[in-house]
Amino acid sequence: MEGRPYLGAAIGSDSYVNSFVVEKVKGWSAEVKRLSRFAESQPHAAYCAFTHGLSSRWLFVFRTVPCVCDAFQPLEDMIRQVFIPTLTGCSPPSDSSRLLFALPARWGGLGIFVPTRRCVRCFGFEIWLVPLRPPSLCACGASFSVEHALSCPKGGLPSLRHNEIRDLTATLLTEVCSQVCVEPELQPVQLSDEFPLATSNTQDSARLDVAVNGFWGGRSERCFIFRVFNPFAPSNSSSSLSSTFRKHEKIKHRAYGQRVREVEHATFTPIVLAATGGLAHEATVFYKRLASLLAKKWRDDYSVVLGWLRCCLSFSLLRSAIQCIRGARSSIGVYTRTPQSVDFVTVESHLSA
Ligand SMILES: [Zn+2]
Repeated sequence: MEGRPYLGAAIGSDSYVNSFVVEKVKGWSAEVKRLSRFAESQPHAAYCAFTHGLSSRWLFVFRTVPCVCDAFQPLEDMIRQVFIPTLTGCSPPSDSSRLLFALPARWGGLGIFVPTRRCVRCFGFEIWLVPLRPPSLCACGASFSVEHALSCPKGGLPSLRHNEIRDLTATLLTEVCSQVCVEPELQPVQLSDEFPLATSNTQDSARLDVAVNGFWGGRSERCFIFRVFNPFAPSNSSSSLSSTFRKHEKIKHRAYGQRVREVEHATFTPIVLAATGGLAHEATVFYKRLASLLAKKWRDDYSVVLGWLRCCLSFSLLRSAIQCIRGARSSIGVYTRTPQSVDFVTVESHLSA
């Protein structure tokens, strides 16, 4: 049973995906049951909470995970036998009435769709997260898997992922801060016994990712360096996500912290993100501050801007993940031929020409 949760959905073997959905459905059924108790005294509020909030949770999984209709049956039973009767004060609906309740409000229904029916499913969502017909071998020669694709340096795709997050953040920083600089060079260091920088990156060609003035309100320069790591890589998968976040923050502090503080006379913050979504502690504080500055400038709610910012980061990571999984890892001057169906059959059946 091989697989992983990924951006709120699941990828992996059929049995893993099925057990993932079964667990989710158990939790959602319990929530629908709890909401039904509120529906006894507050039916309209319970209906709004169901249609505008609760149902979105399984709608996302419904759209991104293939072939799991049967796993949703306990949830449909809870909606049909408990929630709808409590809401309407009538007995459980017949098959035809249940379909009427599933119609959108503009067609006279209640918009309580049937989770076991695929009629609202959008095929486009599924192919974002479920790699169909992956090749057996990566362009680097290793066997292909999602874990490998997110880390393989061939074609420079992990670097593009890092650069996309860096450029997105730098663009947003230009809205609220002055003197935003991408990839500033660090001043050369003179190593001596009185001024050891044994643990720092002492190369003359060392660069930061972004430098900016006035981010925390003062005039001092603040320097940022980004790291987007693959939590499924063997070096990260053995420890918990929180300790992996801390580990990568420490690595960056060790490499640049002392040099930035004592040579550049600036402050240093590593912005660590997981390639599958999620921020380390210092990155969380950074993006909250950025959202607060943007909200002030745009005269918008902080929560709205923070939600939008998180959405931008998630989409950026998602685009990069798709590129890593589906992108052609060709070098400059060398093209990669798109395999035809016959090649897939040959590769998958391990036949040689
Ligand atoms: Zn590879």
